[in-house]
Amino acid sequence: MIPFDLHTHCTLSFDGKSSAEDMVKRAVELGIKHYALTDHIDLGEFPDKDFDLEATVAGAKEQIPALQKKYAESTELLYGVELGQAVHDRELTEKLLAENDYDFVIGSTHFIRGHEDFYFLNYTDTDVPELMRLYFEELLETAEWGGFDVMGHITYPLRYITGDHGIDVDLSRYRAVIDEILKTLIKNGKGIEINTSGLRQKYGRMFPDEDILRRYRELGGEILTIGSDAHCTDDLGKGIEEGIAAAKRAGFDRIAVFIGRVPTFVEI
Ligand SMILES: [Zn+2]
Ligand SMILES: [Zn+2]
Repeated sequence: MIPFDLHTHCTLSFDGKSSAEDMVKRAVELGIKHYALTDHIDLGEFPDKDFDLEATVAGAKEQIPALQKKYAESTELLYGVELGQAVHDRELTEKLLAENDYDFVIGSTHFIRGHEDFYFLNYTDTDVPELMRLYFEELLETAEWGGFDVMGHITYPLRYITGDHGIDVDLSRYRAVIDEILKTLIKNGKGIEINTSGLRQKYGRMFPDEDILRRYRELGGEILTIGSDAHCTDDLGKGIEEGIAAAKRAGFDRIAVFIGRVPTFVEI
């Protein structure tokens, strides 16, 4: 049985493949007790061309509470959101957060100012160390803002840089800024997630890796969620067991789930 999956997408996301109800039905089949739909809201300069902010917000507002009621006996469906680049448009972000009763907010960074999504970048004539430096700087800015519950998939660019383009990145050169990000998250009462999607991709690892998990724990971090980042029913719950094992190795004995933006904890 899979206890939770706190990061998933349905067709409310521009890149989702299965309907919200099909995702919930699959979560019920898998016996997932705490299940979050966290569809994309991407702020900033370069959202996907298929992304429609109003339709996403309105669709979730209409569908998710109805599904919560319909499946109340079978799973605890959490009304989540994956907010991308929140600090690129703080005003709109604050408005969205005020107007929607989210249970759970993931703060993610899919692109940095002046650059498209890491998926689209051409890494042959890019200064990769500089790009990673800018990425971590934006994570620090996001941590300082702190209007989310957990920071999403830390080290996401490695999915493309290392996974797809075979370029190794030495994370030890960013140790100081990573420490700063983790300390800021802890000070602000914010968590991180284990995102298991990398296990299904060429990258073959989780976001973030165990060094960062362990460091967050060592510095006093307690709020850790785990999510598959599934975009279709087939991927739901994938890697959660591996995520739990990694969390244990990093020194965690409980995993957070969020209801009404408040963490409660499940023993592992
Ligand atoms: Zn994401
Ligand atoms: Zn996602």
